[in-house]
Amino acid sequence: MRLRNKGLTRKVVMAELKKALEQDSKYSDGKILCSMCTRPHPIARIANRMFLESNLGDPGLFLGSLRLEREAIKRLASLLNGENSVGFLVSGGTEANLMALLAARNTKNISNPEVALPKSAHFSFTKICRLLGLKPVYASLDDSYRVDGASIEKCLTSKTVAMVGTAGTAELGAVDPIDRLSEIAVKNEIYLHVDAALGGLMIPFLEPSDRGGLTFDFQLEGVKSVTVDPHKMGMTTIPAGGILFRNNTYLDCIKTETPYLIEKHQHTIVGTRTGAAAAATWAVFESLGREGLQNITRQCMKLTRLLAAKLKAFGYCLVVQPTLNIVAFRSSNSRLLQKKLMQRGWFVSYVPRLDCVRIVIMPHTQKNHIHAFLRELRAVDR
Ligand SMILES: *Cc1c(COP(=O)(O)O)cnc(C)c1O
Repeated sequence: MRLRNKGLTRKVVMAELKKALEQDSKYSDGKILCSMCTRPHPIARIANRMFLESNLGDPGLFLGSLRLEREAIKRLASLLNGENSVGFLVSGGTEANLMALLAARNTKNISNPEVALPKSAHFSFTKICRLLGLKPVYASLDDSYRVDGASIEKCLTSKTVAMVGTAGTAELGAVDPIDRLSEIAVKNEIYLHVDAALGGLMIPFLEPSDRGGLTFDFQLEGVKSVTVDPHKMGMTTIPAGGILFRNNTYLDCIKTETPYLIEKHQHTIVGTRTGAAAAATWAVFESLGREGLQNITRQCMKLTRLLAAKLKAFGYCLVVQPTLNIVAFRSSNSRLLQKKLMQRGWFVSYVPRLDCVRIVIMPHTQKNHIHAFLRELRAVDR
């Protein structure tokens, strides 16, 4: 496995690449039911290829790419009611959440800083706490797996630098009562970050009847930053996470000098950063518009409801009624069931904390995939 002395021919390299690609699972098979990523939209593929050489870590050289990133961020800002919001397309929700908590920590000068987190917060916050030296203090959840307002308020101390709410948890798609968290944040003068990696490009497109009570964005005074990932429901190419701050005052505390580059400052954690994903994100937004994105959410929600109803009819117990595109259910032995499904090539998750099987309905999932899955489920779980 040492680097070879003499290179191979293009033909041999291509054959090896194809072999590896065949080992990868394909979204188009319809059997990936556990991923929050999906097949990129065709226009995203094209845009990505066009901008392969672009590096947003040195934007002075790539002014066109920079413009596309800024415009994509503006589209996201308008979707999230952030009139003055500013931000970046980064490597994903993890980096976005990291930048948010870095900003929050840096606005205050507190030793042994703490962050108040829902028990259901994404595992990226475990990494982030370790990196930033933050002590996580966990708040409990209510019966529908949303953070309990009173519990998170009790987590606040003189050392708290931020609190976090999730608009679309990774395990269940639950949406925390962000309006309540915002009130608490304002009252206690605490920075509130909203992790809407999944929900940010979904909640704004829900039917009005499903959207009730799910306000999560900058219209709430306490919300200082929002994570929203185009490489999930935005159907763009990986890596594309979004971080938006309420206004540019938060950028100052995450600024780093880049003395030998054309642009003299950087705000992202990652240095060299692809412009291809920014171009792809921009292209998807422009080509689909609000209507197109709304259709994607509508279709995913329709199939989610179909799956949930069928599972109930089969006698399974849902962990919660789905708010977004995630269905979680229990069988007499959920862990074993997940194993059996995986052995038959169906990729579903097992969530130990909730002892349930978890299914995510992304844009690559079609109605016939759901029916095929249900047939398989009946065959293995009797
Ligand atoms: C996916 C996800 C993340 C992490 O995003 P990456 O793109 O994997 O870094 C964080 N929070 C939530 C709620 C997510 O769904």
